[in-house]
Amino acid sequence: APSAGRTPAANGHYVNGSAATSDASSERIQIIDDEKQFTSALTAQIEKWGLGHAGFDYDIVSVFGSQSTGKSTLLNRLFGTNFDVMDETKRQQTTKGACIWMCKAKGANLLVMDVEGTDGRERGEDQDFERKSALFSLASSEVLIVNLWEHQVGLYQGANMGLLKTVFEVNLGLFGKKTPDGRNQRTLLLFVIRDHIGTTPLANLQTTLSADMQKIWESLSKPPELKDKQLSDYFDLSFAALPHKILAADKFESEAKALSRRFLDKTKEDYVFSPQYHKRIPADGAAFYMEGIWEQVQSNKDLDLPTQQELLAQFRCDEIATAALAEFNEQAKPQKRPVESGKVVEGLGKMMRAWRSGAIDRYDRDASRYHPGVYKRKRVDLIGVIDSTLSPLFLGQLKNLHKASLATYKKEMLDGMKGENYNFADVVTASRERIEKRFLEGAQEALVEGTDWSYAEELQLLREEARIVADQCRKDETKKMVNVIERNFKKQISEPVDLYLNKPTPDMWDKVLKLFRDTLEKAESSYLAKAKSFDCTDEENTTALTTLRKRAWLALRAKIEEQTADTVFLGKLRTYFEERFRYDENGVPRVWRPDDDIDGAFRNAKEQTLELISLYWKIKPTNPKLEFSLPSDASDSLATGEEFDFPSTLVVFTETKALDLTNRFRRDADAFYVEAKRSTVSGVAQ
Ligand code: GDP
Ligand code: MG
Repeated sequence: APSAGRTPAANGHYVNGSAATSDASSERIQIIDDEKQFTSALTAQIEKWGLGHAGFDYDIVSVFGSQSTGKSTLLNRLFGTNFDVMDETKRQQTTKGACIWMCKAKGANLLVMDVEGTDGRERGEDQDFERKSALFSLASSEVLIVNLWEHQVGLYQGANMGLLKTVFEVNLGLFGKKTPDGRNQRTLLLFVIRDHIGTTPLANLQTTLSADMQKIWESLSKPPELKDKQLSDYFDLSFAALPHKILAADKFESEAKALSRRFLDKTKEDYVFSPQYHKRIPADGAAFYMEGIWEQVQSNKDLDLPTQQELLAQFRCDEIATAALAEFNEQAKPQKRPVESGKVVEGLGKMMRAWRSGAIDRYDRDASRYHPGVYKRKRVDLIGVIDSTLSPLFLGQLKNLHKASLATYKKEMLDGMKGENYNFADVVTASRERIEKRFLEGAQEALVEGTDWSYAEELQLLREEARIVADQCRKDETKKMVNVIERNFKKQISEPVDLYLNKPTPDMWDKVLKLFRDTLEKAESSYLAKAKSFDCTDEENTTALTTLRKRAWLALRAKIEEQTADTVFLGKLRTYFEERFRYDENGVPRVWRPDDDIDGAFRNAKEQTLELISLYWKIKPTNPKLEFSLPSDASDSLATGEEFDFPSTLVVFTETKALDLTNRFRRDADAFYVEAKRSTVSGVAQ
């Protein structure tokens, strides 16, 4: 399948000193330079080749063989690459150091590695590099092309054979152990016999080579635990021959073309890239993995592939998680401030779920190809970090929902209590149900699957606060109601009390108190009728009623005070006296004659009038059943009341006051007396 990646635009720059053509796909890169340093540009190059997202959908092939056996020429023919080829005319390799190049094959997700050695095998350094590069190639490639001249076949002692022995030994060290997923790591050795003249058929050459391989395998000193392992446990052998490039140029080209199809055409029966050869390194991690391998090889450490794969997984999973997290943070950031500033963000849960699953999906897509243990571990870490970012948003949203719900609750309750005919309990219940529903909707929306978040606590808090608000509201309403009832009460008693107090009769207080009691009873039942809808507690009702009684009583007392204020009361006394002294029983004004008993009449009227003071001085019914009392600790729970002493409120005049009134009245009465006397004197004088 073609790569899912993009083809980078041409930019014509140089990669490791080599002129790139305008097409990025034909760029080549020196992955290991002649200082034996691994390039830092491979990841970028793999991306430029469009393999960044290829996952496992790519292959690696490398080549192996003595110097100047046409290896680079072969690779270029097979894969359309542009590895350096020895100058034909000079017939000598440029004096470059040993190094490894990589190209991407034309039209395929195929990475091709070319090992450049130096001539002169006598130098120990080169043998070292050959061994190392063989190790490196085997650890990463699926197919190793073993390139050799026809006349080298069967030369068991030849240089190639020594190298192959190295390859096998290296392979045992590398792949003796099974891979983490339990597979036996296999590699295909594809022998390409060059300058095949044709006199010896390929089949014969193949037999010879197979036998040689077997011999080499048997001569290996294997570790005890692997001593029974066969060559075929690790390698598949395959063979191809190519005609002489110059002597049979046309045939060389056509057969090279045919050979190339074995690398490119998946439908071919002898397609070389069997899945079992794949080293299971995702393309995006290939550079890191290869670098790790190379470092191990360079430092002559035992190459431990499982460890390498785990290191790779740690590195790449971290990188992938970091990228996923960066994108996630970018998305989450703009919502932070609104939440912190107290806003209920519409659809926050949906957003959070999308960011979270987006980041996890992204991580899964890229990281799941790596070492499963590492992948899973880092996934837990990633989710931990994500959730620790989201959790404050969730909690903030809950807090804001709570606040908003409570504000709406208050407003809705006040709105519900406009007008007269509302049922307080119904208003409260309806408002509470509405805000709870709204809160729950919001809270559920903000939940994110896979977390252990809960809104139970916040809901509990909201309920408690709503209860407090309702209680306060009820108290306010009760207060208002009591005030209204009090006002009505005052209105109702005002005229009758005036009337009763203007007609001093022995049962005056009985009348007043009966009126008081009846009116109070009505007020109380009107309170109780309303309070039913308030869901008030018994205790609240008791205090409200006590308050109501006290206020009613004080209202009555105020009314009485009004009627018994000094001047008003003195007026009453004077009228009462006049009615008895200046008018006869029939209400006719008296005209005093000298023989009239002015003194007796005066005394009588005065005594009768003074009796009024003892009638008025204390609220005291003749019928004890009508007596009213309040506990003296009946403080006004609805207002900050001062000390209240009920018995003292029964007293209308104190003794001093009574004495004062008596004296003042006496002066008035005396004046009437003198006036009466004078009228008889003047009558006699006439
Ligand atoms: P490398 O060192 O193995 O990569 O070999 P090169 O590809 O650089 O080729 C070395 C020399 O062999 C060059 O001069 C090539 O032209 C030549 N050459 C390449 N392929 C063949 C071939 O199939 N037969 C012959 N006789 N010469 C070849
Ligand atoms: Mg070469």
